[in-house]
Amino acid sequence: MADPKAFLNIPRQEAGYRPVHERITDFSQVEQTLNSHERKLQASRCMDCGVPFCHWACPLGNKQPEFQDALYKGKWREAYEVLAATNDFPEFTGRICPALCEKSCVLKLSCDEPVTIRENEAAIAEAAFREGYIVPIQPERNGKRVAIIGAGPAGLSAACRLNAKGYEVTLFDSKPMPGGLLRYGIPNFKLDKAVIDRRMGVLEAEGIKFEMGVTVDVQNLPAGFDAYCICTGTPQARDLNIPGRELKGIYLALEMLSQQNHILDGETFPKERLVNAKGKRVLVIGGGDTGSDCIGTSIRQGAVSVTQIEIMPQPPVGHNDATPWPQWP
Ligand code: SF4
Repeated sequence: MADPKAFLNIPRQEAGYRPVHERITDFSQVEQTLNSHERKLQASRCMDCGVPFCHWACPLGNKQPEFQDALYKGKWREAYEVLAATNDFPEFTGRICPALCEKSCVLKLSCDEPVTIRENEAAIAEAAFREGYIVPIQPERNGKRVAIIGAGPAGLSAACRLNAKGYEVTLFDSKPMPGGLLRYGIPNFKLDKAVIDRRMGVLEAEGIKFEMGVTVDVQNLPAGFDAYCICTGTPQARDLNIPGRELKGIYLALEMLSQQNHILDGETFPKERLVNAKGKRVLVIGGGDTGSDCIGTSIRQGAVSVTQIEIMPQPPVGHNDATPWPQWP
């Protein structure tokens, strides 16, 4: 385990965000990083609990205490290997996962200062890329070909796993670039698209093929494959069927978020199709992550004001009887 007493002496330290006055003027990533020494101190706080609830909470089953221990000891390569055993893209989850594990950390229960698991994950992934620990694998081919329809997180993950087992994988997607919602939904200020490109370079070097800008008809699947994996996600928005919905100036979140990412990628749109909050008073309906992405995007586009409304009551601050630890609050 990491330092057995560190959790008593070292407080949780988050890297924090760039200053507001600076970050609202651009679409670059807002989260900062700690230096290696501070990062190791944060990893040292992990108590390697007998029952690690963080395992239970993580949808990927990441082995958090094991990679914290390696990180604390400065074994960055080993930390990455532990992480990569369960997580194909720790550089994505390290940036945008809501970190369910941290809410289940025993230090969340005892002092409300869980281990900075998500940030540590991102730091390990960045070190692995920087130090060249991520080498494209060249698996022995088994002669079978698989087509994956949809190059979002699910399709990319399926591609990784199948490729590692020796299948020849081709990803199809209607969008010009792979990534799905990672690329065309999540704002750049949360996930820089260069981070996606970097990983796509690894997948390509491993032999995974990309057929982008291709709309696949599920009744007429591309020929020449032994199996098909449909990973198309849920691009259909949940609309509000209420009077006035047809009025001008009402958009679904992804119309705005996706277009902004396309624009940042160098695409242009005719004026009549532009969704831009510049000089507008914006009302965001919905108080979740997508709503907050729309707020951040509206502010960066130059909205005069932004108001957000949410149907649910204000969540309690701190402990919530309805969702006691180790549940997600
Ligand atoms: S940050 Fe997310 S992906 Fe990473 S260990 Fe926690 S729950 Fe799992």
